[in-house]
Amino acid sequence: MMNIPFHDRPAETIDPTQLAGLQLHRLRASVGHALCTPFYRQRLAECGLPESFTMGALSDLRRLPFTVKDDLRASYPDGLLAVPRDQVVRVHMSSGTTGAPTVIYHTAKDLETWTGLVVRSIAATGVTKFDVFQNMMTYGLFTGGLALHYAAEKLGMMVIPAGPGNTKRQIKLMRDFATTVVHATPSYLLHLYSALENEGVAPGDLALKRAFLGAEPYSESTRQKIEALMGIDAYNSYGLSEMNGPGVAFECVLKAGMHVWEDAYLIEVIDPETLEPVRDGDEGELVFTTLRRQATPLLRYRTRDLSSIIPEPCACGRTHRRITRIKGRSDDMLIINGVNVYPSQIEGVLMKIREAGSNYQIVIEKEGSLDKMIVKTEVSGDLFTGDLRSLEAVRRDIGNRLKTEILIHPSVELHEPGALPVSEGKAKRVVDNRPSL
Ligand code: AMP
Ligand code: ZN
Repeated sequence: MMNIPFHDRPAETIDPTQLAGLQLHRLRASVGHALCTPFYRQRLAECGLPESFTMGALSDLRRLPFTVKDDLRASYPDGLLAVPRDQVVRVHMSSGTTGAPTVIYHTAKDLETWTGLVVRSIAATGVTKFDVFQNMMTYGLFTGGLALHYAAEKLGMMVIPAGPGNTKRQIKLMRDFATTVVHATPSYLLHLYSALENEGVAPGDLALKRAFLGAEPYSESTRQKIEALMGIDAYNSYGLSEMNGPGVAFECVLKAGMHVWEDAYLIEVIDPETLEPVRDGDEGELVFTTLRRQATPLLRYRTRDLSSIIPEPCACGRTHRRITRIKGRSDDMLIINGVNVYPSQIEGVLMKIREAGSNYQIVIEKEGSLDKMIVKTEVSGDLFTGDLRSLEAVRRDIGNRLKTEILIHPSVELHEPGALPVSEGKAKRVVDNRPSL
């Protein structure tokens, strides 16, 4: 029998009845916190729930309204802040939404809770203070970098805060410091593997044993490919900034679905059309309610991520239920090398540019293991009769403005009016040529 590592065995193997009691207790507190925000005071009143309303049972959750990303945007900057501002010690924002940001505030206690969840998550894969952790995720407003950074330090690992990119340097750091664990997007790790090959470094020459992979959808075969190529164990990590970030659900050493930390998040799976719960085990949209967050409690937050609950308990002994790998999204959000992009953001930029025509197309392809985005736009015909320099200037300007809005730099192609396909009915703006999961 495989050794099953735990960080906090009593909390991770809590008796399900006891867990339900704890959830109800925490849910009541969360609703109380939520009522401290202008947004939820109004929303709950609209639903006919008086301020004196208390949750009698966990099933009362269904009386609460859903929260969606647009609610967060509309509440910018502090309509969802539930504590006095002097208690806030950090903010994070969702990536790719610079036009209308969604802000999550954290108190010191929130950060401690979050770090605790990530520590529990990574410890479940068997890492210990003897590991050397190279963090290849973005540091900053995006949650992926800092979350794992603090958790790895808390576990006592040596942390290399490398951030993403600069692959040559990553390889040098991995060799010089004998990195044993990395945190990256699956596409970046595959890219790193090609770079290793180019440099003539065999994965066996490295000390690497494990990888935590998340921030974008990927298939089981991608995981297996990475494991086989690099001779490591790769664990799926799921989270979203609205629910802190990483540490919402993580695979244990058995790699059979991700345990959702149900003492911190209430999980529901709904049909995105009818908004009714699906049957246990069926696929639907994940909905989470924060149970332990002070500064930004969120009730029934619709993630738009499609997955399902695995009803059977995991052989590891943890009682927190598992979800399957994320299958996709129930909205049009694109994830490009781990960065979230909405087609509407691109349209917003193009429409503000005088020369850009109304017809455009977003093409996504794989270039090696990384994602590549090409924005094709029609521009006014007179640009093609003038000199090439003005065409190039417009192309650059569009590229730069897109970068400011969506945080990634797409290649931009300019086309003459009428050159791009015109679809009858609903325009097909996005052509995603990446292999399906
Ligand atoms: P962000 O709020 O910027 O951290 O983005 C969160 C989104 O990234 C989630 O809602 C998912 O769509 C996606 N995501 C994060 N982790 C994973 C994962 N392990 N598998 C698939 N998608 C993921
Ligand atoms: Zn398990």
